[in-house]
Amino acid sequence: MFKLSLVPMRAIARALALAASALAASLPAAAHQHAHTHGHMTLDVAVDAQTITLAIASPLDSFLGFERAPRTDAERKRVADMVARLNAADQLFEPDAAAACRLSRVDLASEALGLGAAQGHSHGGKAEHADIAVDIVFTCTRAAQARFIDVKLFDAYPRLRSIDAQVAAPQGQFKRSLRPGAARLGLTR
Ligand SMILES: [Zn+2]
Repeated sequence: MFKLSLVPMRAIARALALAASALAASLPAAAHQHAHTHGHMTLDVAVDAQTITLAIASPLDSFLGFERAPRTDAERKRVADMVARLNAADQLFEPDAAAACRLSRVDLASEALGLGAAQGHSHGGKAEHADIAVDIVFTCTRAAQARFIDVKLFDAYPRLRSIDAQVAAPQGQFKRSLRPGAARLGLTR
């Protein structure tokens, strides 16, 4: 067993000071849920009687490797591939088969790419950073019976390192963190 009494007090004080400064450094990002942090995204999940709705908010970087309108044919192809892949959202999110879900809608919005509601209002890539929002709706026979959603985003997009998920399910509201190798989102408390 770890004997705290044998650790010099000075070492403890130093460790506490380090922990406090690390906490202070992480606070601004934690306080702003949709802060733009590369490799990180937020995922809001709502489970109703017959639908599971997912809302992604992410830096474009995780999906594209750049955050502006495409300039070359290769970049245009990357954007087209991303749009096609996100529209096939049932390949990226697999709800528990017990819920019997079918993908029914995907909406993409990215001002930098002129996608979705922001279409026609692009700033022509002048901004330094840019985001993408993806809304995904599954229609399910028994949505409330879904115990989990398997998230395949990390396999598809290696630049993505972590997902902060917020779940509103019949069992209540709670938060989950996902990362590569731990990407099954539990929907039960
Ligand atoms: Zn960025």
